[in-house]
Amino acid sequence: MPTSDFEPVIGLEMHCQLKTKSKAFCACPVVFGAPPNTAVCPVCLGYPGVLPVANREMVTLAMRVALATGCTIEETSVFARKNYFYPDLPKGYQISQYDKPLAVGGAVTVRAGGSVKQVRLNRIHLEEDAGKSMHEFPWEDVLTGASLVDLNRSGTPLIEIVTEPDLSSAEEAHEYLVLLRRLVRWVDASDGNMEEGSLRCDANVSVRPKGGTVLGTKVEIKNLNSFAHVKKAIEHEIERQVAALEAGKALVQETRLFEPASGATKTMRSKEEAMDYRYFPDPDLGALVVDEAWKREVAAAMPELPEARAARFTSAFGLPAADADLVCLSRPLADYYEAAVAAHPKNPKALANWLLSELLAKMSDADRHAGRMPVAPAVLAALVRRIDDGTISGKIAKELLVDLIATGRPVDDLVKEKGLVQISDEGPIRDAVAKVLADNPAQVATYRGGKAAAFGWFVGQVMKALAGRGNPGVVNRLLRDALEKD
Ligand SMILES: [Zn+2]
Repeated sequence: MPTSDFEPVIGLEMHCQLKTKSKAFCACPVVFGAPPNTAVCPVCLGYPGVLPVANREMVTLAMRVALATGCTIEETSVFARKNYFYPDLPKGYQISQYDKPLAVGGAVTVRAGGSVKQVRLNRIHLEEDAGKSMHEFPWEDVLTGASLVDLNRSGTPLIEIVTEPDLSSAEEAHEYLVLLRRLVRWVDASDGNMEEGSLRCDANVSVRPKGGTVLGTKVEIKNLNSFAHVKKAIEHEIERQVAALEAGKALVQETRLFEPASGATKTMRSKEEAMDYRYFPDPDLGALVVDEAWKREVAAAMPELPEARAARFTSAFGLPAADADLVCLSRPLADYYEAAVAAHPKNPKALANWLLSELLAKMSDADRHAGRMPVAPAVLAALVRRIDDGTISGKIAKELLVDLIATGRPVDDLVKEKGLVQISDEGPIRDAVAKVLADNPAQVATYRGGKAAAFGWFVGQVMKALAGRGNPGVVNRLLRDALEKD
């Protein structure tokens, strides 16, 4: 069967680090890049006899994500011990949630390949991170064959967001992750920084004959640490599974690892070797109870969510849906836009155009997400106001923007100082038009001989004669008058 006779079935699990000051069950600070084993205490080192205490802020941040995705927050959820041995897990178990997670249900709306799909969430649960094993380091000569363990990460609060197997392509999976990352950042629950390990992803991939209802053999791909890797790993895995089925081979239920260098996945462990984690409720922690008052408090502090905000930008400011969505790329960016509109309410569309086409082009991806804008919203508003009132042309404004970013000085001061005020008086424009026509009799003859396309060339010449400061409307009108005359 050709590839098109199969359909992929994909589910994702995203581990997302919560933006708390302290760890999940102790008072150690959550830090990145500190010297190894300096942000630790007996609790997160797993000493015997210590008692963990759940971090209230961790639960609040997880509740924000649950509310943002339409999940139901359970009144009672339970912390469980997930038992396994690894050198970066000194307790011998990870505190997680198992059969009673914090939140269930919910969905994320994904638009990919021209279709709109509700990706249902199975659950959002709380867990702690393990430490970090290092197998490669610069002191190889001293420590050949050794591995080191840094437990600074041990006990860092995470949520795991698990989807139903509702995704059916690598593109959809990618789009889902992009939207989910925007959401966890939007509600201030996570910094969403993949480079620092704040987001990690596992993907469950299977394929089945198109239109089938029975799920195929599921393969789990672990530890995908960039969205690009998720996309590549899923694409590769779909190809691999389809090729196997087409060749009449059976697939094995297994866990695979993605290798960025080859772009392929390889077997990590099969079902027979699968871990039995022997989950059981953590007797040290007891049930996590979220009462109505806490839920109300968290709900009351929720910001307007990105989709609702984009819809409002469309209805209130007349932005095309695609532009409104881009303006809502991050909450700081949307805040910036609204501040600019408040400063110049007459032309929200032009402000969005300037933001999207001029400002964002000058910014890095990280700056766009963080809303580190090159000029203040009032400056962008002042610039667009001066275009709207005819003081400067759009072309001059683009040049001026470079100076505004470099100097941070007021728009009007720079316009005055640099002599950029647009020329709208007919006198000087009429003179420039007359001179261009007199200097170029051949082109005038061509134009009058029926080559109307040459008009743009004349506009360019007149603008040049006016040092780019001519009011385009007036230049066009007077130029056309002069050329049509005689
Ligand atoms: Zn600690």
